[in-house]
Amino acid sequence: MHVHVVGNACIDTTFRLGRFPAAGETLNATAYADGLGGKGANQAVAAARTGAAVTLWTALGKDPLGAWIRSQLDMELSDVQVSEFDLPSDRSTIVIDAGGENFIVSGVACSEAFDPIAQTALARRITPGEILVCQGNLRGAATNACLRAARKNGTRTILNASPIDEAALPDFGLADMLVVNQSEAKALTGQMDMAAAAGALAAKGAATVAITLGAEGCLVLGHGQAGALCLPAPHVKALDTSGAGDVFCGCLAGGLARGMPITSGLKFALAAAAISVTRPGTLLSCPSASEMAALVD
Ligand code: ADP
Repeated sequence: MHVHVVGNACIDTTFRLGRFPAAGETLNATAYADGLGGKGANQAVAAARTGAAVTLWTALGKDPLGAWIRSQLDMELSDVQVSEFDLPSDRSTIVIDAGGENFIVSGVACSEAFDPIAQTALARRITPGEILVCQGNLRGAATNACLRAARKNGTRTILNASPIDEAALPDFGLADMLVVNQSEAKALTGQMDMAAAAGALAAKGAATVAITLGAEGCLVLGHGQAGALCLPAPHVKALDTSGAGDVFCGCLAGGLARGMPITSGLKFALAAAAISVTRPGTLLSCPSASEMAALVD
């Protein structure tokens, strides 16, 4: 079964330094590197490594950076559908201090201009039973149009409502499955208790709600169950949790596409995300196809 991931792809430039600079100060980084990033790209790569057939629908600028991002995507994915814009390609600068704290600044012109239903063949390509995955990087209206088209076609939808733009939230009622992390669940519902937060999110219309709980695993509500179910994460020594949520979402979509029931898909996603947090990097830490295969066998 096919997975369509609609979302952003960008270049992440990561600088590591001892401490953050003060306003007006210039510091030399101890290390720096460029890498492929963006939640759409990350989730598509994770889903593809599960063995599912994956198409990424994304937006890039007609600039050298866009060509570089495209070349990186082509190394990982067999079907990348790119909408090109006369805009700078999306990029993020990530600054990490010695304590592991980070701040991130992003340029998102292409994501903001991207309207997959109006600009691509997505609506004609998705078919009943396939899976469509969206995140929070595109404009809420553009995401809603994708989710609506999927609903009309009988395509299952997974919405990872991250990042949250309170002013333009997608319609959770269009999601068969809503995935958020704890801080997003709190921000969206005002609830500190995650079972209560899941209930409040389900009341907004998502058929199944999954809240990721970091080292505690995830909580799931819906799909015919009476109450919220907690699924534990494997115990591992976490080194770098960046990108764990994207591995989780991509593997969940891949697992469902490979025919797993929801609870098995969530357990598979927990196992893959646990591997990713034991290694440094975002996409770099995503389990390989052979590691994913070993999790299924
Ligand atoms: P995000 O990455 O969006 O902040 P979480 O911190 O909830 O979201 O992490 C997403 C998933 O990654 C979790 O549900 C879990 O499966 C896995 N994960 C994160 N941190 C750990 C950890 N310390 N040990 C094991 N798994 C983890």
